[in-house]
Amino acid sequence: MPGKNLTRDEARQRADSLDVRAYTVELDLTGDGPTFRSTTVVGFAAHSSAGPVFLDLIAPEVIELTLNGRNLDPATHFDGVRINLPEVAPDNTLRVVANCAYMNTGEGLHRFIDPVDKGTYLYTQFEVADARRVFACFDQPDLKATFQLTVLAPHDWAVFSNAITPEPRPVSGRVDAAAWAFEATPPVSTYITALVAGAYHVQRDVYRRGEVEIPMAVACRASLAEHLDAAEIFDVTKRGFDFFLELFAQPYPFTKYDQLFVPEYNAGAMENAGCVTILEDYVFRSKVTDATYERRAETILHELAHMWFGDLVTMRWWDDLWLNESFATYVSVLAQAESTRWTNAWTTFANVEKTWAYRQDQLPSTHPIVADIKDLADVEVNFDGITYAKGASVLKQLVAWVGRDNFFEAIRRYFTRHAWGNTTLADLLGFLEETSGRDLSSWSAEWLQTAGVNVLRPEYAVDAEGNITSFAVTQTAVAEYPTLRSHRIAIGSYDLTDGQIARRDSFELDVAGPRTEVPHLVGTRAADLVLVNDEDLSYAKIRLDPRSLATVARHIGSISDSLARTLCWSAAWDMTRDAELPARDYVELMLRGINAESDIVVEQALQRQAIAAVWSFADPQWRDTGLRRLAYASLEHLRAAAPGSDRQLSWMRTFASVARTDEHLAVLSELLSGARSLPGLDMDPDLRWHLLRRLVACGLAGEPEVDAELDSDDTAAGRRYAAAALAARPTVAAKEEAWASVVGDDSLPNATQAAVIAGFAQPEQVELLEPFVMRYFAALPDVWEKRTNKIAQGIVVGLFPGHRIQTSTVELVDEFLAAEERPAALRRLLLESRDGIVRALRARECDRAAG
Ligand SMILES: [Zn+2]
Repeated sequence: MPGKNLTRDEARQRADSLDVRAYTVELDLTGDGPTFRSTTVVGFAAHSSAGPVFLDLIAPEVIELTLNGRNLDPATHFDGVRINLPEVAPDNTLRVVANCAYMNTGEGLHRFIDPVDKGTYLYTQFEVADARRVFACFDQPDLKATFQLTVLAPHDWAVFSNAITPEPRPVSGRVDAAAWAFEATPPVSTYITALVAGAYHVQRDVYRRGEVEIPMAVACRASLAEHLDAAEIFDVTKRGFDFFLELFAQPYPFTKYDQLFVPEYNAGAMENAGCVTILEDYVFRSKVTDATYERRAETILHELAHMWFGDLVTMRWWDDLWLNESFATYVSVLAQAESTRWTNAWTTFANVEKTWAYRQDQLPSTHPIVADIKDLADVEVNFDGITYAKGASVLKQLVAWVGRDNFFEAIRRYFTRHAWGNTTLADLLGFLEETSGRDLSSWSAEWLQTAGVNVLRPEYAVDAEGNITSFAVTQTAVAEYPTLRSHRIAIGSYDLTDGQIARRDSFELDVAGPRTEVPHLVGTRAADLVLVNDEDLSYAKIRLDPRSLATVARHIGSISDSLARTLCWSAAWDMTRDAELPARDYVELMLRGINAESDIVVEQALQRQAIAAVWSFADPQWRDTGLRRLAYASLEHLRAAAPGSDRQLSWMRTFASVARTDEHLAVLSELLSGARSLPGLDMDPDLRWHLLRRLVACGLAGEPEVDAELDSDDTAAGRRYAAAALAARPTVAAKEEAWASVVGDDSLPNATQAAVIAGFAQPEQVELLEPFVMRYFAALPDVWEKRTNKIAQGIVVGLFPGHRIQTSTVELVDEFLAAEERPAALRRLLLESRDGIVRALRARECDRAAG
């Protein structure tokens, strides 16, 4: 729809010609129909140069439009996405009364009915530009205004917004309804305004530090109340407040801090001012490993950091989204490592975030950290591994470069100078140059304005006595992104002694250009293992020399340092993905070394990667052997794991993912039926569904078993698991049904759609899914045109035939893209999926040669 996709040029022009002062918004949520009444009064000044002005509003119907007391005809001035005002005065008051739509896509005002108790749950999600689905506004980050919200809702609801929840007052003539009139906020961007309302279960606490008191609440659906571990969530939050208040030396900008766990949420969390929404899966109704607790804590700290960086001081336009997200990511890991029990947070960062960043940076769609975001469609597909993880890696390196004290002194000046305003990267770099005395222009050009990841390799020669005669670090880049960068790295030398691999020496140096000689090491004894990014200081893929690779292959579990071990695992995984290490060798390496892995985050990553290696990167001729190897090993680890341990759970899930033989599938059946049990292993609902889905996908269970399981877990999560399991059935009819519900119909809520898609695409069902390949490409234009952004992305990525690792899949993408001009964001998603096939084909070739 024209006008839906706001461009940067339009936003700039609008920001230059307007000052928006205040929104007064009233929402009537008392009905249960498809729409709700939204009344907005917005005050704004227009400069004399202002031409025609438009506001954003996506609504089925505008009932009344009044500009400065004069009625305007909605039919003339509203086109479904914009309110167009041909003439405005220097000072304006616009009143808009509209019927806006409840959404089931997680965008705008999402409505969810709990199947357990029929409770209604609403929440808003406005980033990037969906405030306009709830009230008429200038929906761009640099038109900040105060926001005063009044909500009419059933009197027994809990209602949250950006200000402290007021006492509800009765509404005359409506016995069941009450009105909540919130105080106005300070000037904020539309995308961080919020409303959460419904039958939520609420727990409260207060953060205290000296004179400061910040009321806090956490909330979730009533049917999840027994699982809400509020004490732990408050504890992490308080540690975050302690850490950030000290580090930023700035008061907390808002009046309270609520964290609401909301259903059917598309993201991990959202930093609405003082009113953070979080993925409900973080209320654990079944056992999860500590890796998930760690992730949740990181999320909590990330959103808290945004209250200052993002909400108090906000990017002018989405070009600087990376800075917003990278900063929050970097300081959340810092806070986690230094003020919570997850002192290994930087190992997780190296393992999880950097793997994500390297992967993204090698896709054809990679881009400089500083992105060129021309319009909303560009940013919608840019919440990626560059924006979050590469940016954070590079910030970590910047901190090393300017010094931690200088870095945070610059941050403090930046907050003070730009509080409640908008900025660009240049504003922050200015303060960093001021505090550090360093010129950051070449650093910025090298790291922020170019794309791609470098590969660093050690190259050395050894004499007859085993001493090094020459040592250099070489740097390469791919042809498409040829930038070679300056890296601050450490080189670590590790020796195998008494069955342990320990660091003998590590020293820092700068490397630049294609080859850097390292005289420091000449004359020293060659090490069993050389790491050229020891301590993970820089952002680069590393390679192991042949001797180090042999050491790692035989003794990876004996490396005593967890970060060093993680770097070796990452190097091996990179080499597998890059077709330099056969997938079967990676699987063997993983099986040999994982027993010594003590970090559950790393352990789970290795399990996932080994499964992916077998399915995608191994020669199909070897696949059955590989799966059997993994399944037998998983079962052994499972039996050996301590009862009730994280390791037991992670091996149980791995085993269930790869079980294929009658014998192994029988183990799953017996665990489900109770005929077999493992000490300490709680067959809780999530685990039961995981096992059942595997049995269903293999044809050993079907609708009756799914129905029976649903009878004992008829919850929102249970229904999603059931939908996924039914879509996983190995029959044409099941696939047709799943396809029709996702592609042929738009009534499925976002989370159910995601579940059906996940069930639909089983790796061993490639032949069964063959008829859907052409239908996928045929459906794309319509899906992209008609569905909302998040829903369309889910379909394009999730239904892509990614398990069909064949040259013809690549050709189908090419034909689709060549046939006509496709929207840039759609093109990007397809090229990324295409790259997955090309990469897998190369890796399979490598593995075949080894077989
Ligand atoms: Zn964020």
